[in-house]
Amino acid sequence: MESKRKITIQLPDNSTIEVSADLSAGLIAKELSPGLFQNALVAKVNDHLIDLSTVISEDARLEILTYNSPESHDILLHSTSHVMAQAVKQLYPQAKVTIGPAIENRFYYDFDIEPPLTDNDLAAIEARMNEIIAADLPLVRREISRDEAIDLFSKMGETYKVEIIREIAPDIPLSIYSEGDFTDLCRGPHIPSTGKIKAFKLLNVAGAYWRGDSRNKMLTRIYGTSFASQKELKKYLNFIEEAKRRDHRKLGKSLELFEINDQVGPGLVLWYPRGALLLHNIKDYWIKEHIRHGYELVETPHIGKAQLWETSGHLGFYRESMFDGMTVEGETYYIKPMNCPFHIQIYKSKTRSYRDLPIRYAELGTVYRYELSGVLHGLMRVRGFTQDDAHIICSPEQLNEEIEKLVLFSFEFIRSFGFEEMDVYVATRPKEKYVGSPENWAEATEALKAALNKLEVEYHMDEGGGAFYGPKIDIKIRDALNRSWQCTTIQFDFNESERFKMEYIASDGSKQRPYMIHRAIMGSLERFVGVLIEHTVGDFPLWIAPLQAVVIPVTNNQDQIASEFHKLLIENGIRAEINLNNDTIGAKIRQAELMKIPIMMIIGEREATAKQVSIRRRKIGDIGIMNWQKAIDMIAHEVQLKKENKS
Ligand SMILES: [Zn+2]
Ligand SMILES: [Zn+2]
Repeated sequence: MESKRKITIQLPDNSTIEVSADLSAGLIAKELSPGLFQNALVAKVNDHLIDLSTVISEDARLEILTYNSPESHDILLHSTSHVMAQAVKQLYPQAKVTIGPAIENRFYYDFDIEPPLTDNDLAAIEARMNEIIAADLPLVRREISRDEAIDLFSKMGETYKVEIIREIAPDIPLSIYSEGDFTDLCRGPHIPSTGKIKAFKLLNVAGAYWRGDSRNKMLTRIYGTSFASQKELKKYLNFIEEAKRRDHRKLGKSLELFEINDQVGPGLVLWYPRGALLLHNIKDYWIKEHIRHGYELVETPHIGKAQLWETSGHLGFYRESMFDGMTVEGETYYIKPMNCPFHIQIYKSKTRSYRDLPIRYAELGTVYRYELSGVLHGLMRVRGFTQDDAHIICSPEQLNEEIEKLVLFSFEFIRSFGFEEMDVYVATRPKEKYVGSPENWAEATEALKAALNKLEVEYHMDEGGGAFYGPKIDIKIRDALNRSWQCTTIQFDFNESERFKMEYIASDGSKQRPYMIHRAIMGSLERFVGVLIEHTVGDFPLWIAPLQAVVIPVTNNQDQIASEFHKLLIENGIRAEINLNNDTIGAKIRQAELMKIPIMMIIGEREATAKQVSIRRRKIGDIGIMNWQKAIDMIAHEVQLKKENKS
């Protein structure tokens, strides 16, 4: 009898058990331990996630994932999104479902529903979800043919699902999941039943275009979250509150740093004077540091001829991220999505010898990339941004040393802004689309790893995560909320030097192809500033703060002497304002606090007579009365120390 057949299951601790070949993963878990079965959400068989109800009929490696596993958390989140969709369909039968994925610690589901839902509707949906969870409905998987799926969802009036099914390649098997009266197209896997949902919360409603494209219909998106326990849920809700407090879009407005408005267009940033000053302080530091590290600054145009982008391959490989061309005197020009082709032109402006290498061209180059309006997010994801870009052109012998220098420079630069935690990744050759030979890739990847090993930097491998033109090192920074942000990238390139026929004369007189590295330390200045705002909650380090100090006369009687002191601050290069409003001293202090100005310099009658100033530091309080010169020296000294990374 087939059912009496035995198979061997290997467990995560490498022990093995023999079980009947007709058992599901869940029943095997039950045999192993009733406690494990109680907490099981999903199974991993030979590295594939499957439903607990799936029968294992061949020898296999098996891991039962409980609430504690990060992988099962995604399944829990996604399963909760199904339950939410079910509740919405029960309450609003006219709603059409679209997609409902898990994202980091959250899920969402987009509905086409008129009138759109609001936050006020969430309580009713949650209540219905609680009923569905209490009913402990099993989530049942069924494989289905394409025709049957189209028929099923057409009958249900789920036109978005039909659209999705039609776009799935015919050879990909389809499956549906049902719980009670609700059925969704889904690859799965899912938790075994709705009762496994222990602690969830619907967070907010937002508008989202179908497929993130503003030409499509605006849908209602409901965000929610789901955890193994109320305790974990509460912890996450606190995290969300803290993230809201730090939201750079909100702080950007209240601190008068920037705006993005509809008259100009989505993803295009208008920097107000304070924001621009912050940006310039960072740029000044960047320029100084690059010159100190052996870079040459270049400046290049914002547009270039189509032929240039043909040669570089951007029109072939990157066209979807480029804005449409414009025609000038019969020639098509494109706005630059990258600076590389321009830097290469400068390299090619004369014959280069091995003695000239390495050449390091750096530019704060503003580029424009087309992104769907639906994915744009404050400064974090924009359509126009400034890359702190550089290209290093070197001989093969120089590669290792250049990469080492780059890694060290990047760390030093990022740390000077107060970011201490970083995660380093080495991304290797993609499986399918790539240029260059596998040997070249191996050599370049080894060079990246060797530099990190030599510097004793811990890193993770991102297998297959490289660009099509070469392997790379990515450095992600962690902010005060332990969120990870893409920052530095150091990318090896086999493509451009070949396409542009870059050359140098080697020591033996032969013509050789140089190696090329693209790199950006901050990545996008816009995103970097966005992260910096959220990391510091707008309390910028003194050396880059757009305003370092405000001079506050206690009454109008001190206006004149305070103005004299303010002038002295400006002459000494300190970024200071003076508050000459007719407000009370209390009101003036509150204003400075709201704007998060690091230092208040208060001048009352006593200070005026003695040509002194009373200093109040933000978050520290009063630090005493001192004479003018001492106050100036104090700030100058602190700024100098920070710039030299000494504190
Ligand atoms: Zn699903
Ligand atoms: Zn480049």
